[in-house]
Amino acid sequence: MDKRVVVIGGGIIGLCTAYYLQKEGHQVIVIDKSNMDSGASYVNAGYLTPSHIVPLAAPGMISKGLKYMFNSSSPFYMKPRWDKDFIKWALAFKKSSTRAKVAKAMPHIGNINVFSRDLFDEIKASKDIGDFHYERKGLLMLYQTHKEGDHEKETALRAKRLGLQSEIFDMEGVRKMEPNIKIKALGAVHYLCDGHTTPLDFMSKMISFLERSGVAIHKNEAVMDFSVSNGRITTIRTKSDQYKADEVVLASGTWSSHLTKKLGIQLFLQAGKGYRIDMAKSTGITMPALLLEAKIAVTPMKGFTRFAGTMEFSGINKRIRRERVQAIADGAKRFYEGLEIPRDALEGADCGLRPVSPDGLPYIGRVESLQNLTIATGHAMMGWSLGPATGKLVSEIISGHRPSLDLTPYHPERRF
Ligand SMILES: Cc1cc2nc3c(=O)[nH]c(=O)nc-3n(C[C@H](O)[C@H](O)[C@H](O)COP(=O)(O)OP(=O)(O)OC[C@H]3O[C@@H](n4cnc5c(N)ncnc54)[C@H](O)[C@@H]3O)c2cc1C
Repeated sequence: MDKRVVVIGGGIIGLCTAYYLQKEGHQVIVIDKSNMDSGASYVNAGYLTPSHIVPLAAPGMISKGLKYMFNSSSPFYMKPRWDKDFIKWALAFKKSSTRAKVAKAMPHIGNINVFSRDLFDEIKASKDIGDFHYERKGLLMLYQTHKEGDHEKETALRAKRLGLQSEIFDMEGVRKMEPNIKIKALGAVHYLCDGHTTPLDFMSKMISFLERSGVAIHKNEAVMDFSVSNGRITTIRTKSDQYKADEVVLASGTWSSHLTKKLGIQLFLQAGKGYRIDMAKSTGITMPALLLEAKIAVTPMKGFTRFAGTMEFSGINKRIRRERVQAIADGAKRFYEGLEIPRDALEGADCGLRPVSPDGLPYIGRVESLQNLTIATGHAMMGWSLGPATGKLVSEIISGHRPSLDLTPYHPERRF
């Protein structure tokens, strides 16, 4: 039976959810408080990341966070603050940072990433949303020190055990792959399993497709509250309107925990701010690369090169800290000889807020207290990659189909 489904949030997760729900014949409404042209789903590095099997909450991250706390240009930053939710989240993050927990999370991160990348392949082949930019050249992890190189080679071995292929290159091999710009590094691990895209290209084409397919998209309308009766959400209230729904999907990114609070549900979530610089002038860069020591993502996108980085936990705000933007430009320069990012590109830098769960796994699934609510958020550094997988899984839940993956590891009310 087709249902009336309200999806709150029109980022990559909300749109992909709407995509699979409309395919199942449901009547779908997407409500977003923004104009749907900015934020995490637009500023991201566009990587599809089966290679990113190690979550942020890994051994050593807490001490790195403490070390960087007073460094305004560090790639990882936790602003100390007396906020009850942040403190609870930080404790859960610490608890998740053990070797055993990371080892347990890795196969689930790998599985859902591969599933999602294959769904990107399917969306591309279907031509539903048209011919969006998507390449499968893999991802280079470039390193300048033996310490970082050895660490990445170890990760590559663990990835191999999960069926993810990679190759190790010395600088001669890297030069052959990237002949048009001189790279200053010792070598690279090349993950063949990864892909890359141009976010705005995909998002705008997906929005057009959904509108053509009868999905109602309401922009600039913030969901403020809900009415609940007999364990079901009956009404979704915005400032100007109210909506009835059989099913509700919460895909509101980093703001999701504000809305779950209104429903009496605690979601451990913090905003992880990241920045991007776009350079329209040709750089000669043709291979997507992660500059390991600088923690910068470099992506040759459709018509420009994007440099992205920083994980800044300072609450929900969109303040651009110029010293961090500059640190991204300086870090990129240390890897690419002669790279000059022009001033207008630096001035045009933008940021987005990643919705970060403590353990690096997303929240996908039902909650105990409400029969018609599905949560789809907490994707942190992998939300772009995991859009299609999340959308498909949510659609399977709502349609009453057996989910393509075991949802237990992604339970929104799991214990940390
Ligand atoms: C610099 C940077 C680089 C990144 N690189 C990558 C990468 O290479 N690969 C990767 O996989 N991931 C990457 N990510 C992470 C990825 O971008 C995010 O995980 C993903 O975009 C999150 O998508 P989302 O739909 O959950 O949230 P969002 O994109 O934040 O969308 C949530 C939407 O909900 C709306 N909303 C919120 N509250 C309400 C409300 N009350 N009512 C109505 N609407 C509401 C918001 O307006 C917003 O549009 C990167 C992120 C950053 C910042």
